[in-house]
Amino acid sequence: MEQNYQNQEMIQHPDEILQIDLCGGQARVLLCSSTAMVQECVRIHGASSVATAALGRLMTGAAMMGIMLKGEEESVTVTLKGDGPLGTLMAVADHGDLRAYADDPTVELPLRADGKLDVGGAVGRNGRMTVVRDLGYGKQYIGQSEIVSGEIAIDFANYFTVSEQQPSLVALGVRVHDGLVLQAGGILIQPLPGCPEELIDQLELRSPMFADISRELTFGTLDQLTEDWFRGLEPKILERTPIRYQCSCSRERMEKALISLGRKDLQSLIDENQGAELSCHFCHRKHFFTTEQLREMLAKAGSKGEAEQ
Ligand SMILES: [Zn+2]
Repeated sequence: MEQNYQNQEMIQHPDEILQIDLCGGQARVLLCSSTAMVQECVRIHGASSVATAALGRLMTGAAMMGIMLKGEEESVTVTLKGDGPLGTLMAVADHGDLRAYADDPTVELPLRADGKLDVGGAVGRNGRMTVVRDLGYGKQYIGQSEIVSGEIAIDFANYFTVSEQQPSLVALGVRVHDGLVLQAGGILIQPLPGCPEELIDQLELRSPMFADISRELTFGTLDQLTEDWFRGLEPKILERTPIRYQCSCSRERMEKALISLGRKDLQSLIDENQGAELSCHFCHRKHFFTTEQLREMLAKAGSKGEAEQ
């Protein structure tokens, strides 16, 4: 298998998501290529192959959810808390900007009997998937579902059905070889209100065509694949949005995180007189605060507390 791909000229997709309507809006499709984004995730976290596959699938799913956001201020956070050795996995989508981490991205597991990476074993087959849509202005919408298999695509599909009553076909894939992400991408298909049964049947019939999405991406551009898979269903590309790995952490955000520790913890950091160094989970950027700066924060935390009373 690997041999074939190495001999073939690799198609270089830009990282983007296509929003596609079928049959005049009876169903919608999101088609995503995310190879460079997942490669950047590997670079930042030094992720093993199985962690790359898990993080890449999670980020690609989250990216497609991010595209569905309406408001500028909105973001979506998808967390998988399974009982596998990767620990908690989290991906955040700010429209086209994605960031992610896993508790232990260095986990290695033997391949499954069919030769594939054991993503389900690494994530764990018991646990919860949580989706938080931050609507801005302090408003959040939280949905949860059980992890079904830890293979992630099926967990997204189950989440949409259980938590949002929105049946969905989802495929997510990452093809990785020797730490190099060859192809990564995903597809999400949702029938919209009034979608006739025949169209749903058609989409289910065709689903094996894009089930192995990272393999399919080696055969054509997103536009070509759209034409091939949805021939006869009037596919219409409405929009294309670039996506990338981009962390939005800043000194100000880190400061807020420190202030949110509360007076007692801030005071004990000040008493230790070593300053405080915070490292971002998503990009490993470090931010250092001196004891004097911590004192100023304590003063802020104090005045904030009084203002709220
Ligand atoms: Zn960061």
